[in-house]
Amino acid sequence: MTPYPHLLEPLDLGFTTLPNRVLMGSMHLGLEEAEGGFDRLAAFYAARARGGAGLIVTGGIAPNEAGRPYEGGAKLTTEAEAERHAPIPEAVHRAGGKIALQLLHFGRYAYHEDLVAPSALQAPIGWFAPHAMSGDQIEETVEDFARAAALARAAGYDGVEIMGSEGYLINEFTAAGTNRREDAWGGPYENRIRFPVEIVRRVRERVGPDFILVYRLSMLDLVPGGSTLAEVVALAKEVEAAGATIINTGVGWHEARIPTIAASVPRGAYTWVTRRVMGAVGVPLVTSNRINTPEVAERVLAEGRADMVSMARPFLADPDFVAKARRGRPETINTCIGCNQACLDHTFSGQITSCLVNPRACHETELILTPVPPSRAKRVAVVGAGPAGLACAVSAAERGHAVTLFDAADRIGGQLDIARRIPGKEEFDETLRYFRVQLGVHGIEVRLNTRVTAAELTGGRTTGPYGTGGSGPRAVNGTGGAHLAHGAEGAHGRFDEVVVATGVVPRVPDIPGADHPSVLGYLDVLRDGAEVGARVAVVGAGGIGFDVATFLTDPADRASLDTHAYFRRWGVDTDYRSPGGLATAAPPRPRTPRTVHLLQRKTSKVGAGLGKTTGWIHRNELRHRGVTTVAGAAYERIDDDGLHVTVDGRTEVIPVDNVVLCTGQEPLRTLYEELRATGVRAHVIGGADQAAELDAKRAVRQGTEVAAAL
Ligand code: FAD
Ligand code: NAP
Ligand code: SF4
Repeated sequence: MTPYPHLLEPLDLGFTTLPNRVLMGSMHLGLEEAEGGFDRLAAFYAARARGGAGLIVTGGIAPNEAGRPYEGGAKLTTEAEAERHAPIPEAVHRAGGKIALQLLHFGRYAYHEDLVAPSALQAPIGWFAPHAMSGDQIEETVEDFARAAALARAAGYDGVEIMGSEGYLINEFTAAGTNRREDAWGGPYENRIRFPVEIVRRVRERVGPDFILVYRLSMLDLVPGGSTLAEVVALAKEVEAAGATIINTGVGWHEARIPTIAASVPRGAYTWVTRRVMGAVGVPLVTSNRINTPEVAERVLAEGRADMVSMARPFLADPDFVAKARRGRPETINTCIGCNQACLDHTFSGQITSCLVNPRACHETELILTPVPPSRAKRVAVVGAGPAGLACAVSAAERGHAVTLFDAADRIGGQLDIARRIPGKEEFDETLRYFRVQLGVHGIEVRLNTRVTAAELTGGRTTGPYGTGGSGPRAVNGTGGAHLAHGAEGAHGRFDEVVVATGVVPRVPDIPGADHPSVLGYLDVLRDGAEVGARVAVVGAGGIGFDVATFLTDPADRASLDTHAYFRRWGVDTDYRSPGGLATAAPPRPRTPRTVHLLQRKTSKVGAGLGKTTGWIHRNELRHRGVTTVAGAAYERIDDDGLHVTVDGRTEVIPVDNVVLCTGQEPLRTLYEELRATGVRAHVIGGADQAAELDAKRAVRQGTEVAAAL
C-alpha cells in the first residue's frame, strides 16, 4: 500500500496513459542557448524521466523570431532546429518517460526591440514598448504556433504545452488591461480569447488527435484588468472544445506584485484556484505553485483540487522525487526550499539554471559523483557540518569513501540551523532533514560536540611534512577554488583526506561603543534568544540584516505557514469577486510592537543586493511592517543615548534600546592554519575558504565539487 494512491494513479488520456499524476513544469534552463546545450538538456530531462516524472514539459521555446526572449533566444521554426531537439525526446523515451515541448511567445516581456503585443503598452517590468500586432501578424503568429507544434512532433516529442499565462503574449490578448484592440481580436471577452482558442484549434488540426496538447491557462492573473473567474471558466471550456488534452494552471503575471512561488508562500497556497475550475471541463486539470513534497501533492489530489499536480523546481532539487515517493522513502527526497537562488535568480541574470540544494542540476554531464571501488576508498575527515561540510560528506560517502563528519555544535546545520528560524525560511528544515537522513543512508560517522584540533585529526602527528610523494601545493580538479595546504600525498594519521568546512565568525565592526551593553550580535538574537527592546537599530543591511529585521517584526500570524494570513497580507481575493483576483492588502499586526531601523553605509538602495527574484518581496515586507531603512550612514558611536550616525552630512542620534550587528563575517580558519603549520594537506571549503559573498549555494556547490574530486 502506498501512502500516495492519488499521486501515483495512472492518468488515461485516451490515446496514451501517463504513469502518475505528476507533471514536471516548464523551466527555462539556459542550456537551450548554450554551446553543447542540447546534449546536456537530454541528460537533464532523461534523469527526471528515470526518476519517474509522469509528463515532462520543456523550457519555453519561441514559435517565431518576435516571440524570443532576447536576440539569440531559442526558437522552433525550421526542420533543422527540430533535428537539434531530437536527442531530447529520444533520451527521455529511452529512460521510459514522456515529454512535451513548451511553446512560449514572450510578447511584451521580450528583451529585444522587435517585441510585439496586442496593444502598444509597455509592461511595468518591460524594457521596450511593444509594437501593436496587425491583423495579418496575428494570423501569421497563430500559424507559427501550429508549425512549431508540428515540428515538435517531428522531433519526437509526445506533445506541446501552449503557454497562455504569466503575462506573456497569449495572456496579454485575454486580459482587458493589455488588449485595447477594437478589431476581431479585442473588445469583448469572446474576441480577446479568439487568439488562444484559434492557436489550440490550429495546433490540434496540424498534429492530429494522438498528440498531447497542454494549455497553460492563467487562472488568476493578480494584475489590475485581469480576467474574472467566469472568464477563466469560459476560456477553459473553449480551449477544451478546440482540442486541449490537459489544462494546466498559471498563477500571477511576472509583473504582479504578489509573491506566488517564493519560500514565504505557504505550500500549495494557490491550489484553491484550480479547484474553482474543477468540474467545468472534462479534460484533466493540473494545479501548481509551491507543491514540494509528496504529502502536499497527495493531499491536493485527494481533496479534489485538481487531477494532476505540476512541480518544476522540485525536479531541480531531486530528479528522483517520484521514484522515492513510489518506494515509500519520502524522507530521502532533497526538497526544493523555494529560495530561487540558483534557479530563477540564475535565469534572470543570464546564467545556467541549477539548484542550491542540488548543484548537479543542469550539470549532470560535468559534476559527476563517480563511484570508487572499495580498494580505492579513502578515509575522509570533514570538519564542520554546515552546508559545505554536509554536502561534501554526503557526496564523498555516496562515491564510496569512508567519511567521518565532525562538528563542535550539538547538531548539524551550521548557519542553516539559524537561518531556518527566520519567518519565511522554515523550508531550511527540509534541507537539514535531507542531510540528516543521508548521513544515515551512507553510514557516515557523525561526531557532534567535538571541536576538532589538528592533533586529533593527525593522531598526534603534528609535525610535518610526513608521508611520501609530492611535496608542492596540489590542485584537485573541480574544487571550485578550494585551497590545499602545502603537504605530502598519503595518509595524515587517521585520515587520507581532510576537508575543513569550519565556516565563519561574525565580524565586529570598528565602531566606538561596539562593546556597549546595548549591542548584540545576530547570533545573540537568532540563536541564543537574547531579549531585544522595543527600539532597535540593525547595523548592516545584507541578507542577515534583512532577516534580523524580519525576525524582530514577526507578525502575530505567520503568513508563510498560514494561507489566510498570507492572502490577507498580500491582497488576494480568494472569493475571486474582482478581476485578476486582487483585494486590498492588510498590513500585518506585529507580535511585539517595535520600532526598527535598518542601516547600511552604502548609498545604494537598501536591499539592492538581495536575490534578483525575491529581493522585492523582502523589501516590501519590511516596508509593510514599518521598518525604516537608512542608506549612506556613517556610524559615529554607540552609547546610552543610542546609535549616533551621520547621514547626508547631518549627525543625529537614533534612540534605541539595542543595536544588533549584522556586519558580515570573517572566515574561521584556525584549524586550517594549524593543519597547514603541520604540513598536512587539507581542502578548505565554504565560509572557511572565503566569507565574502558566501551563501549556502556556494557552500553546497563547493562541498560537492571537492567530494567529486577526492
Ligand atoms: P557554516 O554554516 O558556518 O558551518 C560551519 C560549521 O563548522 C558549524 O556548524 C561549526 O559549529 C563548525 N565548526 C567550526 N569550527 C569547528 C571545529 N574546529 N571543529 C568542529 N566543528 C567546527 N544562505 C543562503 O544561501 N540563503 C539564505 O537564505 C541564507 N539565510 C541565512 C540566514 C541567516 C540568519 C544566516 C546566519 C545565514 C544565512 N545564509 C543563507 C548563509 C548560509 O547559512 C551560509 O553561507 C552557510 O551556512 C555557510 O556554510 P558553511 O558550511 O561554510 O559554514
Ligand atoms: P553581507 O550581505 O555581506 O552584508 C553585510 C552588511 O554589513 C552589509 O550591509 C555591509 O554594508 C555591512 N558591513 C560590512 N562590513 C562592515 C563594517 N566593517 N562596518 C559596518 N558595516 C559593515 O553579509 P551578511 O548579511 O552577513 O550575510 C552573509 C551571507 O549570507 C551573505 O553573503 C548572504 O548572501 C547570505 N545570506 C543570504 C540570504 C538570502 O536570502 N539569500 C539571507 C541571509 C544571508 P555596508 O558596507 O554598506 O555597510
Ligand atoms: Fe528550489 Fe532553491 Fe533549488 Fe530553485 S535553487 S530549485 S528554489 S531549492
